[in-house]
Amino acid sequence: MNKGRLIVFSAPSGCGKGTMLAEILKDPAFRCSISATTRAPRVGEVDGVNYHFLQKEDFLARVEKGEFLEHAEYVGNCYGTLLSEVDPYLDKGINVILEIEVQGAMKVKEIRPDALFIFIVPPSIAELRRRLNKRGTEQADVIEKRVSEAAGEISKAPNYDYVIVNDALEDAVSDFFAVIRAEQLKTESRREFIDEVIKNA
Ligand code: 5GP
Repeated sequence: MNKGRLIVFSAPSGCGKGTMLAEILKDPAFRCSISATTRAPRVGEVDGVNYHFLQKEDFLARVEKGEFLEHAEYVGNCYGTLLSEVDPYLDKGINVILEIEVQGAMKVKEIRPDALFIFIVPPSIAELRRRLNKRGTEQADVIEKRVSEAAGEISKAPNYDYVIVNDALEDAVSDFFAVIRAEQLKTESRREFIDEVIKNA
């Protein structure tokens, strides 16, 4: 059985990646890793579904035990990808999406260079601020912190393999599947198939 593909999916918060992911995950060939975080749950967020919500001591103890593929600090909180959320699924042939910020993504690039790196950008910073305000889950000062963090993150987009603009949701989702299809058709991914064709000639 072919192994699944590890997909790193980064976007500043408010880019609409949650809505994009909800559409992508309707396809059972994809799974989103559930990250661990020390941030407090937002209204409606459920432990073990949106995140594994951990106390900081517990998070750091698990870092020490080597349970994380990567971890990073973001706006004062720790976030990390547990190995148990990734490898067992890749082994089953499922594509695992890591919805993580840029520092974590760059760590994954060092450890798993075969992963696929996709960056989602908003049509503009003004639109990003509008979406964050509309979401209404954060105080004004936190929104401004996230907006300035976003501008810094967008400057890292050239380190990714693909950049998708999330303006109209449907177009962004269809761009995602176009990227996946293009990757499946790459020569490296077709080697076994080509060998098989030649063998049976
Ligand atoms: P939020 O607090 O809005 O849920 O997430 C804040 C940021 O943390 C987002 O950019 C999100 O992609 C990132 N994030 C979520 N999980 C992880 C993780 O496991 N590792 C890293 N490095 N970043 C994460």
